[in-house]
Amino acid sequence: MLNNKRRGLLIILSSPSGAGKSTLSRRLIKWDTSLSFSVSSTTRTMRSGEENGKDYFFVSDEEFSKQVRLGEMLEHAQVFGCSYGSPKGPVEAAIDDGQDVLFDIDWQGAQQISNSALQKHVLSIFILPPSIIELERRLKGRGQDTPEIITKRMQKSWDEISHWSGYDYVLINDDLDATEEKLKTIVTTERLRRSQQPGLVGHVRALQSEFESKNDI
Ligand code: ADP
Ligand code: 5GP
Repeated sequence: MLNNKRRGLLIILSSPSGAGKSTLSRRLIKWDTSLSFSVSSTTRTMRSGEENGKDYFFVSDEEFSKQVRLGEMLEHAQVFGCSYGSPKGPVEAAIDDGQDVLFDIDWQGAQQISNSALQKHVLSIFILPPSIIELERRLKGRGQDTPEIITKRMQKSWDEISHWSGYDYVLINDDLDATEEKLKTIVTTERLRRSQQPGLVGHVRALQSEFESKNDI
């Protein structure tokens, strides 16, 4: 019996705030319900419409520091003056079980995971807006932030964009449907990476012994 169970990928999506990564993440999870989303811990306050444990684990500064101290974070960083981090346990369990995990994290977190022991299972994708004007239009149109927060996000956008070249793939999110299709193509292809198919070694060994016995070697 061919054992070609895959190993899970760590799929990282980063972008300046408002470029569309949450929208694309939701579409990706709808497309493949076996994808699990890495729910981050954060010390920022909950926004209306958000759910504790689904969008984020909303924790105190003390709880966050404790998780970091105990080595429970795969990565963590300060973003917009608050702490954010990806809990390690659920990610390791999922990828060992062949499940891909999706991360919506900033460049600092992407860099930390890409330099970790899990680096060969990382697929990192950066989402660029078509223009800075459109980025601002999307942030305003989202209707979630005050004008002050939008200004802060716009000021930080270049800091995030400047790290675009550290990612495996870069997509310009102009047409949403087209970007979604590109994203699905990337994920489908990357799942076939040799490092994601631990069963290949066994299959090749079986081919070898079949070949040798057939040829009397
Ligand atoms: P992020 O998670 O990167 O901060 P969101 O996914 O929340 O960004 O998207 C910001 C806003 O822009 C949302 O209102 C979303 O519906 C909209 N949006 C996302 N992608 C596109 C697109 N390609 N064209 C037009 N609007 C978009
Ligand atoms: P927001 O507060 O708008 O949900 O997220 C702000 C920024 O923090 C976004 O760029 C988002 O990708 C990033 N972020 C969310 N969770 C994490 C995390 O666990 N680690 C890191 N490094 N960044 C995160």
